[in-house]
Amino acid sequence: MDLLRRFSFPGIPIRGQWIRLEATLGAIAQYQNYPSDVQALLGEMFAAVTMVADNLKFSGAVSLQSQGNGALVRSLAECREQQYLRGIAQLNEESASAPAANTLADWLGKGQLALSLLPDKSTRMNPYQGLVAINPRGLAASLEDYFQNSEQLQTRLHFASVDGATTGLLLQRLPDAPDASEATISQANEDWITLTTLAASVTDEELANLPPEQMLVRLFNEYSCELYTARALSFRCTCSAEKSDETLMVLGREDLLALASEQLEIHVDCEFCGHRYAYDQTAVHALLAKRAAALH
Ligand SMILES: [Zn+2]
Repeated sequence: MDLLRRFSFPGIPIRGQWIRLEATLGAIAQYQNYPSDVQALLGEMFAAVTMVADNLKFSGAVSLQSQGNGALVRSLAECREQQYLRGIAQLNEESASAPAANTLADWLGKGQLALSLLPDKSTRMNPYQGLVAINPRGLAASLEDYFQNSEQLQTRLHFASVDGATTGLLLQRLPDAPDASEATISQANEDWITLTTLAASVTDEELANLPPEQMLVRLFNEYSCELYTARALSFRCTCSAEKSDETLMVLGREDLLALASEQLEIHVDCEFCGHRYAYDQTAVHALLAKRAAALH
């Protein structure tokens, strides 16, 4: 099962998150055959949005999306309700081969990466989107810069994508208590340096294979570390027959009827989960009749 677990170091203003995604990536791989490097990148994007979503104080979704003129035309990873994931990557059919170097910047070419917070309507909050400057060292480094610049939170992120699974490890320096003494703050800064240095020593193999309990003990054995209850994560799409109806209705009555008379069946395929919504002539007429009735 895919899980996210938080951890903390009691008495030290530093928090952590550990995440492993395998079943979710496996579910996506069943209908989208991405090259392993693209699947790894998507896995890291999923890990990142889930870590951000885990800290949200409101209900909604977090997404990370890219657009570029490189081999990766666009990508999107989304986490809803802190647990449901879906995403997509669209590759440029013409550039048949992967970029020479396997970094985010090389995949995107000239491109952009944006992080969005999408509160549910019931919260009456506005959506927020921030651009993530692309660090040539990769997605983890780009996000570290983003948290530093947009939220003034020092962050260290490590990802390992091995054999179709992605594991992520995050450390974040929390703001000091308003009444913290200088000695306390300087001790916390020292702990931050020590803990992030220890975290940076993790190998991809350790990150990918060790259960979190073991990994935390191995990395931070001089510190007492508290690991919290796991949050279960899973692949889930939000497409539905109703949304598919909406998509068809965008065509307008005339065009829809014309299309229905040309084709035995009209298909609306969900790009996220591959689900096909099919409409034969009877279904198209029923849909139009339902819409006409709703207008009166
Ligand atoms: Zn779907």
